[in-house]
Amino acid sequence: MTTKEIKELIPTRRLLLGPGPSVVHPRVLRALSTPLVGHLDPEFLKILDEVQHLLRRLFQTDNRFTIAISGTGSAAMEATIVNLVEPGDSVVVGVNGVFGTRLAQMVERCGGTAVRVEVPWGEVISPDLIEGALNRVGSVKAVALVHAETSTGAFLPLEDIGTLCQQYGALLIVDAVTSLGGLPVKVDEWKIDACYSATQKCLSCPPGLAPLTLSEKAVNTLTRRKTPCQSWYLDCSLVADYWAEDKRTYHHTAPISMVYALRESLRLIFEEGLEARYARHTLNRDALLAGLQELGFSLFSRVGHHLPSLICVNLPPLFDDRSIRSILLHEFNIEVGGGLGPLAGKVWRIGLMGESSRFEHVMTLLAALDQICAGLTHSHPQGKALAAANTVYTLSRTSL
Ligand SMILES: *Cc1c(COP(=O)(O)O)cnc(C)c1O
Repeated sequence: MTTKEIKELIPTRRLLLGPGPSVVHPRVLRALSTPLVGHLDPEFLKILDEVQHLLRRLFQTDNRFTIAISGTGSAAMEATIVNLVEPGDSVVVGVNGVFGTRLAQMVERCGGTAVRVEVPWGEVISPDLIEGALNRVGSVKAVALVHAETSTGAFLPLEDIGTLCQQYGALLIVDAVTSLGGLPVKVDEWKIDACYSATQKCLSCPPGLAPLTLSEKAVNTLTRRKTPCQSWYLDCSLVADYWAEDKRTYHHTAPISMVYALRESLRLIFEEGLEARYARHTLNRDALLAGLQELGFSLFSRVGHHLPSLICVNLPPLFDDRSIRSILLHEFNIEVGGGLGPLAGKVWRIGLMGESSRFEHVMTLLAALDQICAGLTHSHPQGKALAAANTVYTLSRTSL
């Protein structure tokens, strides 16, 4: 190709209903395109303070160490593990999907021992299982759990686990990448020591920043390390000196435009209100699920533990994963996610995260699927999926 053949970028407008990135609000896009100031400019430092303030409210924490790591969710996952785990440490890791597996691998790369508490994908890890591992291992540095497992659509109740970890002197690490902003994440109340997320899921920003909060106990753990953190870029004790109001020491250049975007998306979250936002995610999920069930899809994860921000559904018989996702993408401009690992070809993961979780998006997807299913089996009575979703919306209005 010649350089002239590479034209100005005009991407097709897609409706993003996959496991991230999610739909970005026009106000966030506008924030991204505003002019830059320097990363040590007093105006920018004030913006950092505002972002920290809003992140603390979203994480429901008073933790002083509450920042956004430069990078995606995996960078925050890595920052957490690389700072808190030293060679020889044992970490109990809940594994019931892709992201628990990734956490365990990171622990091992840091020279730690990952004690995997495994249950089948889609199942939930009980506090008893975690306590069993804590008893068996003896001295455990931390327990690492995925709040919302994006590969299976299941969420893990965390209310009782923090107290359990404290009894055994272990830190509690929580991956809240697909939960923060879509369902409650109560860092202080649940006694979580390290909690991270990512901008492109329920916060509805582009990918590029990863909120992270550390309790005082976690901060003490990293400042008292015997060995220096092997990652210079993700060394939280160095990064913290840039975010600390009284220091502002240069470490690496903050991604200015992404900080603007995150600030605007957090403003949108608090304009809506956390409770209203969580209720919206639950209602849209219920409506979508009702519609999908009419079309022959069934819930993959356990009922009652299915996420408000992402549903993972088994495909109906005779439904070809690749060809139908391709029709959705190319003819309807709708993206949904396929299955990961052993679930490839068997399930779909439909994200209703942040701005993606809207009545009109649920109806658009169901209308498209209704039409596709009608083409596949001539016995399919068109409109049933939309009607089922509509019933859920109507009932919610009358129950208010
Ligand atoms: C998406 C995701 C990650 C990784 O985030 P990236 O932004 O893709 O690096 C980690 N954990 C969970 C639960 C996720 O859903």
